[in-house]
Amino acid sequence: MEYMPDFHLHRPANLEDALEIKARNPDARFVAGGTDLLVNVRRGIEQPTEMIDISEVGGLDSFTEDGDGLYLGAGLTLKAIAALEPVQSGYKAIADAAVAVAGPTHRAYGTLGGNLCLDTRCLYYNQSEWWRQSNAYCLKERGEICHVATGGKTCFAAFSGDVAPAMLVFGAEVAIQSPSAERRIPLADLYRNDGLDHLTLGADEIVTGIYLPANLGGNASAYEKARVRGSIDFPLAGAAVRLAKAADGTLEDLCIALTGVNPHPQLVKGMDAYVGKKLGEAELDEIRESTRKQAKPMHTTTVAPWYRRRVVGALARRLTAELYAT
Ligand code: SF4
Repeated sequence: MEYMPDFHLHRPANLEDALEIKARNPDARFVAGGTDLLVNVRRGIEQPTEMIDISEVGGLDSFTEDGDGLYLGAGLTLKAIAALEPVQSGYKAIADAAVAVAGPTHRAYGTLGGNLCLDTRCLYYNQSEWWRQSNAYCLKERGEICHVATGGKTCFAAFSGDVAPAMLVFGAEVAIQSPSAERRIPLADLYRNDGLDHLTLGADEIVTGIYLPANLGGNASAYEKARVRGSIDFPLAGAAVRLAKAADGTLEDLCIALTGVNPHPQLVKGMDAYVGKKLGEAELDEIRESTRKQAKPMHTTTVAPWYRRRVVGALARRLTAELYAT
């Protein structure tokens, strides 16, 4: 790991000042917990000359609950989110995901906003400066080629946040603020399928929080991921499942979302087809196969894409079966 390079650190006390600084310095990076960004800076992957520390910005760590559902401020730590009783009881997949991020010290500092806006990851990108230099860098940073899909001009670096898929299955909406406006969009629309530029945020915008709808709160849900080291690593593949069923076992709703297998957190299509049915072994096998087909992992980790595709299908099937059986 290289030494921390020089940069100018701003420490605004309120959101208005933070956004004003960002508007004047469009290339500046917001930093809160810094658990991912500072590693990238020390590796030379990112070279911001200006950073805006938002850890002291008032209000970003707010939490509210009302008849419409929950509001989670982007500055809440992952540790705090995992400990919130309304999240544990009504939106369990999100608590599962928050507690699955990295290790305890990362969760004590890492924030919701940081996890949702996590940069995409790749075996050829998340490396030291000398390693990347000796491999002529790559499209995502200073280079001319992609080592994963040589000859192409597309980056397949994988989105590897844990919390986003768990929030996607609950139909979360994200609050975004710029100096002049506030907007609220479906969380799915925060992302695009491009490993080079996977967020739809404008240069003058910041994620301020997440809304979770009340009508889905209380549905059975779970999140699980596969990783190399169970105590700390990013997901090689992860799946979140939410379902609702009637007393007679008829499925009323089923939603599955994935991480680690595409440049964006991905909702699995076609699950509406199971609404009104009961799930048996044949249906669960179909869900597994459909999940596998829609996951498109590339060779962006040390683990082979075919294995990650099989794992994510198995996770989706197992979680669906377990939730259905409860
Ligand atoms: Fe670089 Fe290709 Fe990996 Fe993207 S997928 S980070 S362009 S090697």
